Amino acid sequence: MAEYILARENGRVIPKEDKNFGISNRAKAAIREYGKDAVVNSTIGTLNDDSGDLIVLESVHKVFQTLGPKDYAEYAPIGGTPAFKEAAKKAAFKNNVPEGFIEVVATPGGTGSLRNAISNYTIYGDKVLTTDWHWAPYKTIASEIGRKIEVFELFNAERKFNIDAFKASVNDILAQQESIVVILNTPAHNPTGYSLTPTDWDNVIAALTESAQTGKAIALVVDVAYMDFAGDEDEYRQFIPKLSTLPENVLPIIAYSGSKTFTLYGTRCGAMICIAKTQAIADEFKRVCEFSSRGSWSNNAKVGQVILEKIFDDEELLASVSKERAYYRDMLLARGRAFSEEAAKVGLEIVPFDAGFFVSVPCDNPEEVAAKLEKENVFLVPLAKGLRISVASIPEAACRKLPAMIKAAL
Ligand code: PLP
Repeated sequence: MAEYILARENGRVIPKEDKNFGISNRAKAAIREYGKDAVVNSTIGTLNDDSGDLIVLESVHKVFQTLGPKDYAEYAPIGGTPAFKEAAKKAAFKNNVPEGFIEVVATPGGTGSLRNAISNYTIYGDKVLTTDWHWAPYKTIASEIGRKIEVFELFNAERKFNIDAFKASVNDILAQQESIVVILNTPAHNPTGYSLTPTDWDNVIAALTESAQTGKAIALVVDVAYMDFAGDEDEYRQFIPKLSTLPENVLPIIAYSGSKTFTLYGTRCGAMICIAKTQAIADEFKRVCEFSSRGSWSNNAKVGQVILEKIFDDEELLASVSKERAYYRDMLLARGRAFSEEAAKVGLEIVPFDAGFFVSVPCDNPEEVAAKLEKENVFLVPLAKGLRISVASIPEAACRKLPAMIKAAL
């Protein structure tokens, strides 16, 4: 338990040092000592080129360079500029526009959407449901506002989406509280790379439709942070129209992020988008989420909003951004394939992987294995149930080399 001098704990467990930050610092120190080529830094959550440098889409950068002072210096409206809201809908849905009452609230990245969704669709002390393998900040975000993360097993014994565990957990939590927020990070889940299949989605929708018969409120937050790096952008959005079939008391909320899609990580550009069954539910969503924004970060940085406005206002520009992204997506997909092929060859078990920035290897003693690999200048992130390898930040050759090294360390 951490000790506090003047600060208050307030039910949170705040470590002395962020774990990832510590590993990443050691990786940087190793690079300084031994050189880039001798080190595999597979801890980073951004898409990097083969030299380990951050990839920034040139087409997006060019838009940035055309901006005038008002584009970045002016306050944006709390809920986002009207043109950004339209752009965010187009960016999130592409050709898979759902039916329903759609409302958009700009947020600082997907993180802000998660925070506002938890804050408004649960009460203090409630449990928020997500998968056992999950992005660690979910817990931080929930505990920061007095909620707890509860998990269900993402995979069953057949290595398929564990719909039974999902159903049981939703119903169990609903028996204890008046509403529930469920967070599903798909496609290209962090940290496993899993994407819910169309059948998984049908099962999730059927399960929530059944649970909704309790009359309680369910917010289904779909964290799509990696959606544009999973594969064909429309194919991976086919689940979106299905969300329109959910009953009135289940509110789908897309936690949309421009961080990866437009390489706008640092501009904190995102949006929460609801697909409501009634106008009243959509209006309520806007009212409560804008209130939360006002009370936490106020308005969002305008710069990312203007960049998206400009991209979606110009078909040619949009096409060039999409083309450039497709090039890097293919590079990323090749890295993921290389890792999983080599893992199969050397008999290294990985968690069911589809696509995206990360691959996970299940193991019993992740900290120990990670420490062993660090001695060979391989840096990756130990999680509760295994190791996370960021294929987004290392070259394909390193993706081919790593499985055997991990297997040996295990
Ligand atoms: N969700 C997941 C699973 C993530 O990995 C991230 C970023 O790493 C986010 C959401 C949110 O990112 P941002 O707030 O930069 O949009």
